[in-house]
Amino acid sequence: MFALADAHCHFDAKYFEEGAEAVMDRARAAGLVGFVVVGLADAAQGVAPLTAVLDLARRMPGEVAACVGIHPHDASSWTPSLHEGLRAAAASPDAAAVGEIGLDYHYEHSPRPAQRDVFARLIAVAREVRKPIVVHTRSAAEETLELLASENARDVGGIIHCFSEDRAFAARALDLGFHLSFSGIVTFKSATAIKDVAAWAPLDRILLETDSPYLAPVPLRGKRCEPAYVVHTARHVAMLRGVAVEDLAAAALENTERLFGKGFSRPRA
Ligand SMILES: [Zn+2]
Ligand SMILES: [Zn+2]
Repeated sequence: MFALADAHCHFDAKYFEEGAEAVMDRARAAGLVGFVVVGLADAAQGVAPLTAVLDLARRMPGEVAACVGIHPHDASSWTPSLHEGLRAAAASPDAAAVGEIGLDYHYEHSPRPAQRDVFARLIAVAREVRKPIVVHTRSAAEETLELLASENARDVGGIIHCFSEDRAFAARALDLGFHLSFSGIVTFKSATAIKDVAAWAPLDRILLETDSPYLAPVPLRGKRCEPAYVVHTARHVAMLRGVAVEDLAAAALENTERLFGKGFSRPRA
């Protein structure tokens, strides 16, 4: 067994009725030592999901890094008061990053102008609190890169989470100072462009994630995803790069710790 981190997961009770602790126990048994957990504010729940992930990070500082954001799906939920709540959460010492934020033109649950506006506002929050951002982008590659550049996201850096673009996008994101986080999608047979990027990207810019509860990697594709499954993604990316999985997992773990400013505790041997 080797140590590794899940650089992006959701623990909300609506996904895991058994509770975060049970999910984390199964992950610990699979070798996970770190969890980057995402809390997202929206109109229905307000900032309660942000408070929940900050509490988790406070209770388990050696294992959990918290991210606070407003998903592009919910950009139309943005109000000045939600923004103030998000800003306060982002400024908390228990918040490691602002995210996920970004653009999703595939589902377009919120109008595109609202998505762009909220993305820009939340990059500004990250710059104000000097924390990295976690970017969600789907069917909006060009505008995502344009906004990252025009809003000076380079000042804080961050990750392109659930990376699902091609090498040209990756090269530009790397130039902007961003890291690439690979989810179970990289294990899917049809994901040739993503596999190409995973094989090619610099080792010090690669992270691994599950995006639980979605996108379980092969051979568990279609199941509810959970952090323990990141092991399969690590094996696949190591295979693509022709390196030992232990080495790939160790590099991705170190990158996760460096980026989120967090030292995860290693279990005593
Ligand atoms: Zn996402
Ligand atoms: Zn997510």
